[in-house]
Order: sequence, then structure tokens, then C-alpha cells
Amino acid sequence: MPLPIAVLGAGPAGLGAAWKLARRKPFEVTVLERNAAAGGNAGSFAFGGMNVDYGSHRLHPSCEPEILADIKEMLGEDLLERPRHGRIRLRGRWVHFPLKPLDLFANLPLGFSSGVIADSLMRLGPKAEAATFADVLQQGLGRTICRDFYFPYARKIWGVSPDELDREQARRRVAAGSLLKLVRKVLGTVPGMRTKTGRTFFYPRGGYGDISTAFGDAAARAGADLKFGATVGGIEIREGRATAVHYQDASGTHSLPSHQILSTIPISHLVRAITPEAPAEITRRACALKSRAMILIYLALETDQFTEFDAHYFPGADVPITRLSEPKHYGLARLPGVTVLCAELPCSTEDAVWRASDRELAGIVKQSLETSGLPAGHRLVDVASRKLPQAYPIYTRDYSGHFDMIDQWLKGIEGLVTFGRQGLFAHDNTHHTLGMAYALNECLDDSGTLNRTRWAEYRRAFQNHVVED
Ligand SMILES: Cc1cc2nc3c(=O)[nH]c(=O)nc-3n(C[C@H](O)[C@H](O)[C@H](O)COP(=O)(O)OP(=O)(O)OC[C@H]3O[C@@H](n4cnc5c(N)ncnc54)[C@H](O)[C@@H]3O)c2cc1C
Repeated sequence: MPLPIAVLGAGPAGLGAAWKLARRKPFEVTVLERNAAAGGNAGSFAFGGMNVDYGSHRLHPSCEPEILADIKEMLGEDLLERPRHGRIRLRGRWVHFPLKPLDLFANLPLGFSSGVIADSLMRLGPKAEAATFADVLQQGLGRTICRDFYFPYARKIWGVSPDELDREQARRRVAAGSLLKLVRKVLGTVPGMRTKTGRTFFYPRGGYGDISTAFGDAAARAGADLKFGATVGGIEIREGRATAVHYQDASGTHSLPSHQILSTIPISHLVRAITPEAPAEITRRACALKSRAMILIYLALETDQFTEFDAHYFPGADVPITRLSEPKHYGLARLPGVTVLCAELPCSTEDAVWRASDRELAGIVKQSLETSGLPAGHRLVDVASRKLPQAYPIYTRDYSGHFDMIDQWLKGIEGLVTFGRQGLFAHDNTHHTLGMAYALNECLDDSGTLNRTRWAEYRRAFQNHVVED
């Protein structure tokens, strides 16, 4: 008898695991996904005559070779390798991103560069223990970079002050956390000193979601049953073991008996889905884990090309959006006369803007373009928006206490594993979450038993993931 495995969520993590496991004889894999399509936050959809993503998405070259080789095999020539070509708006001036020495020399505001030099000289003394995001970055990068870049950016992205954020947020989220690392990154763009990461990225010609679709198609070919429009509402526990998943689709409520339940849905939702109910203390802590929401605003404009840059980054508080990308540059879409912009607006689901109309949202983007001196006069052909209630985990200073206790409690349930970006409340990139899926496959033996020691080692290794933008 094949062993039934339920995978919750059809983002990259869920589909990566489904593909790996469906190819193994003992397993019968079912994927339950509430959306109508694969990809989760890393999916794509059609707008303005092309496929667009949920914000700027790139597959980073730091992707593990085994995973990259699988993606290359699945997508073939449709996986493009593209140069990065963005800009950061710093004190009203544009600086190339990735940073380049000559461009920095020509375009960095004078007050900024002199401030960074002064900061680097002042940093020679002993350092106090860093407890917060603000401490880590201030000690590593100095006052000027924090004041003009990281601190206002952090306030916009996470909606809290940098000194209310845990230091872990800096370690996991800021790749260049010291001036030395920053200098190395800059020098990495100089011919002859080039480093592998940061200069190029991979992107599927038909949109980022094609990575997930390819894993989903391969999983289905290997025998997995992919159920879309299937919302998980309950996980049944009997005598300390997860035995079945309850889900709802257009035809009603169903129960799926499972030997292992591999969940990539948000960990706080997972806790609330468990029956009998989790202890009140665990539920309370699940509610205390907060995520930042994001509105993605798409504008179709009547022009061949908005600018030559694939993305613009806005750390400053004068512009509410954090990033503006032009997806046409990513997948080399041929679309004469029209281009699409995607603006990323972090917010809380409690904010009034969460309920704003598409027209009002388009107005916010137009205002941002005007403030930053970008072309704002193109005719608007169409506008759309998408809302991600859980875009980024917020690592407040008490988050790890909450997360660790929930994690510990979930570990006590046999036959249930949480992983993926939302499942582990991590900022991780797509390739990290695919790495989790591959690791989980390795940790399940043919009798469907989880090698807990090995999985714990992997979990420790996942903590070293550093996110790339
Ligand atoms: C704005 C933005 C930009 C990003 N840019 C990049 C980038 O450039 N490069 C990069 O590598 N990564 C990027 N990421 C991260 C990337 O999106 C994630 O790494 C990836 O989506 C994580 O995959 P996952 O499968 O772990 O989770 P998700 O993609 O979140 O998938 C979870 C799935 O579970 C489903 N689900 C949730 N609840 C239920 C339920 N009750 N029942 C059934 N299904 C459910 C969801 O619908 C979803 O499909 C970015 C993220 C954001 C928000």
C-alpha cells in the first residue's frame, strides 16, 4: 500500500517537495493549494499583455547547483540569465544597483560619501553588544548608511522602528552587514575581481511563476495529485500523531488521511488549523507572530519602455513605495507600445490603504514618480493590484520566544512537518525554500519516517540563509 503524503501549499517549497517525493515508489502525494494556480508569492499572472510577478522576483545565482541544474533542465532555454541593472534613490540622487565604483564616485551625494568615510574612521574602537537591528547595522555600517538608507527602508518594509527589530533581522536580511563586506560587493563588480553573486540573475522567459509551474508539472507527471482551490481548514491529531487533513473546495468539505503532512502554509495558520485545539499559550504566541503585508500595484503604460532600468529602489521616507520594477526587462517580453510597472507598497492590513481602490493606488504610484523625478506623464492604459497579507515576517525583539515555543510544540506531533518561507517564519528566497524541500525529501525514509536528527541539522543550517534582493 502506498503511503499517503499531504503537501500543504503549492508555492516553490510545496511543489519542490511534491516533485521529489512523487518520484519515490512508496509515496502517494497530494498537494492542497487554496489558490487557482501554482507559485504562492513566487507565482505570476497575466496583466497588460504579459506575465507579471508578485513584486520583483529573481532567481539568484547563489542557488544550490543541484537545484539550479534541475530548474535549468525543466525550463531549458526559457531560463534566461540577465544582467542586473537597477538604481537606488539616495538623498535625491540615483546610484546604480548593484553598486559600481565609478558610478558611486560620480553619483553619491558628497555629504553621504564624506559621512561614510568619517564613520569608517570612528568605527575603530571597541564595540558594545548589538541587541537590535539598529545596533548591528550602526556598528557594521556606520551612522550615515543607516540614517540615509537602512533605517528609513526598514521602517517602510517592516513598519516598526529599527531599534524595535531583533538583531536577527539584520543577520538574515542584510547581505552586506559591514563596510568590509560592502566594499567587497562593490569591488566584485570590477572586471578581474568579479564575484558570482549580485551581478546577474536567472529568470524564466514566461514569468517567475514558471519555476513553480515547472515543478508542479513535473510532480504531476510523477504521479502527484495537485488540487487547486483547496483550502486547508483542519489537521486532525490522534494520540500525538497527525492523521488527516480537512480541506474545502468548490464541491464541499473533504478529509484526506495522511501518513505525513508537510505544511508550507503560514505557521500561525497551521497552529489554528490543528484539532483538538492547541494549548491557549501556543495559540496566543501564534497570534503574536506578525507579518508585514504588501500591496502590489500594476500600471500598464502607453510606451515601449519606461526606463532602461529593471528596478528602482526607494529607501527614503518621502516616497511610500519601496521598489518599482519594469517586468518587461526581466523576461525580455516583446510588447510594442505598452509596458507594465509593478510598484511594491508595504503596509499593514489594518491601514486604510489596504482597502484603497485601484485608481487611488495608481495615484500613489504617480505621486511617487513625480516626487522622485521619474517620468509620470505616460498614458495609463490599465491598472490592477494584488494584496499579500503575509509578505515579510517581522522580527520584533520578542519574536524568537514565540516562534521557538510554537516550533517546539509542533515538533511533538508525529507525522507533521512545517517548512518553507511562511512555515518557518523566515525571509527566505525561492532557492532557500526549494533547498528545504530537497532536504525534507532526504530526511524521509521509504517507510515515511522522518529522520529527526538529520532534519534538526538541516533546520540549523537554514538559519544561515541570508536573503538577497
Ligand atoms: C515582494 C517580494 C519579492 C520577492 N523577491 C524575491 C526574489 O527576487 N527572489 C527570491 O528568490 N525570492 C523572492 N521573494 C521570496 C519568494 O516569494 C519566496 O521565497 C517563495 O514564495 C517562498 O515559497 P514557499 O513555497 O515557501 O511559500 P509561498 O510562496 O508563500 O507558498 C505558500 C502557499 O501556501 C498556500 N496556502 C496558504 N494557506 C493555505 C491554506 N489554508 N490552504 C491551502 N493552501 C494554503 C498559499 O496560497 C501559497 O501558494 C520575494 C517575496 C516577496 C513578498
